[in-house]
Amino acid sequence: MIEINTIALLKNKVNEAIETGQTIGFVPTMGFLHEGHMTLVKHARAENDLVIMSVFVNPAQFGPNEDFDRYPRDIKRDSRLAKEAGVDVLFYPQVDEIYPQDGGITIQAGQQSNVLCGASRPGHFDGVLKIVTKLFHIVQPTRAYFGQKDAQQLAIIETLVNDYNFPLEIRRVETVREEDGLAKSSRNVFLSIREREEASVLQKAIKLGIEHYSNKRNANQAIAITKKLIEEKTSGKIDYVELLGYPSLTKPSTAEEDVILAVAVFFEKARLIDNIILTNKGE
Ligand code: AMP
Repeated sequence: MIEINTIALLKNKVNEAIETGQTIGFVPTMGFLHEGHMTLVKHARAENDLVIMSVFVNPAQFGPNEDFDRYPRDIKRDSRLAKEAGVDVLFYPQVDEIYPQDGGITIQAGQQSNVLCGASRPGHFDGVLKIVTKLFHIVQPTRAYFGQKDAQQLAIIETLVNDYNFPLEIRRVETVREEDGLAKSSRNVFLSIREREEASVLQKAIKLGIEHYSNKRNANQAIAITKKLIEEKTSGKIDYVELLGYPSLTKPSTAEEDVILAVAVFFEKARLIDNIILTNKGE
């Protein structure tokens, strides 16, 4: 594995791959890698000749009172894990390399960003689209891999790629979980021992809600069931519990539409998100 931290050097590597007819699998991350990220790499490794991972904590997607400064970082550990997972190129740029100047042009997410995390984190998805657009142009991937854990992000990126004809394929990867069901996340390190124990309730509560919806098709009841369990069994404060059509992220209109039951919960030092997507074929 080689480590690259300038766009120019990465472009050389990318051009070489394209000239020799290699496919490029791309895994964008903010680092502090865990098994969720590794699973994206596994898929990228299986489907492409060259695997590029980026590690970049993107300031553009953090609000002023969010955790950009204290977001966990450990590039030495990330480098070792990426190598073990089969990454060929680790792109690890500094902020100035990615954002040297501001030309004033912005990319704005559409109506899919008015709900869920977009409603509680204004501008977050604009920042996500900004970095993703830049990285797609730099890396020129054949396929890019995103986790369903960040289902709203995935849906919005799919819209960008479809609507603006980005020449790549977006691949969805299922959420990787701890043994007790907690979705793996770089932010889990911020949980206290007690919160860590409580946090497994999130997935249980979503499961109960989605099972209810699957049987009764009553979104309000499903939401209420999920909320009740989280409120009873955790010390966290609910940011949202929502049930929406997926990937439209509008109120479910037909019984055939896939739906997402998504939650965000504030713990003392971490805001955790999780979801389950109920597809027509079952979960
Ligand atoms: P992050 O570093 O948190 O920005 O995540 C980078 C990528 O890994 C995103 O596409 C995430 O959706 C994905 N990801 C994060 N956690 C998980 C997980 N537990 N399972 C699967 N993918 C994940």
